[in-house]
Amino acid sequence: MNGKLYLVATPLGNLKDITLRALEVLKSVDSIACEDTRHSLKLLQTYEIQKPLFSLHDHNETKRVAPILERLKEGKSLALISDAGTPLISDPGYRLVEAVLAAGFEVEAIPGPCAAINALVGSGLPTDKFYFVGFLPPKSAARRRRFEALLDFPSTLIFYESPHRIQKFLEEAHSVFGSRRLVLAREMTKKFEEFYRGRLQPKPETIPLRSWKGEYVVLLEGANSSDIPST
Ligand code: SAM
Repeated sequence: MNGKLYLVATPLGNLKDITLRALEVLKSVDSIACEDTRHSLKLLQTYEIQKPLFSLHDHNETKRVAPILERLKEGKSLALISDAGTPLISDPGYRLVEAVLAAGFEVEAIPGPCAAINALVGSGLPTDKFYFVGFLPPKSAARRRRFEALLDFPSTLIFYESPHRIQKFLEEAHSVFGSRRLVLAREMTKKFEEFYRGRLQPKPETIPLRSWKGEYVVLLEGANSSDIPST
């Protein structure tokens, strides 16, 4: 019998945010592919899971495909996890899944945390239609072009951004979107979790956050979306 590839969602920060089924799968597979073995070891040790771990990240994903297909052919099952949340969502794994399916093996996704969805449901912005943008290009001109392309989009917009670019990001967003409703979801599920629910500001440093450190999801209201959403 062929093995199976499981895509397993793991916590965003709070190690308690893992499902019983995710733990069951991680305990049952022959090996686990993860972005950073040292990082994932902490989670696995918390739940006393001892499995061979190997790295799969943006720079070696293509190289990992053939040996993984070999293992599946031998009847071995594998799990793919990422550093946080759902694998493949702004994380590696797409090329692997594509190759595994093309080779005729089974893939199963085990649901769990995802920063975009957690931020959206806690945001207070319309949830009926949303567009996950993910990370924008780091260079200002390219990022601005993407903002402009999204200006008339009638859905809640969800962005990921790294902490050292967040203020610049917000400043540029203001120059394109004006004072649109903004939600910042910072350090979700962690000790210093904080939500800012307000509007884009010309000077982002005036936004009253306790701190600018940590991880962020940025959400903007969609164009003309002040109607109450239908469920
Ligand atoms: N696969 C992950 C998921 O399911 O959300 C996303 C991985 S992506 C490399 C990392 C980005 O997700 C961060 O830069 C940040 O934008 C967002 N993120 C991850 N954890 C977060 C948290 N605890 N609070 C706020 N944003 C978070």
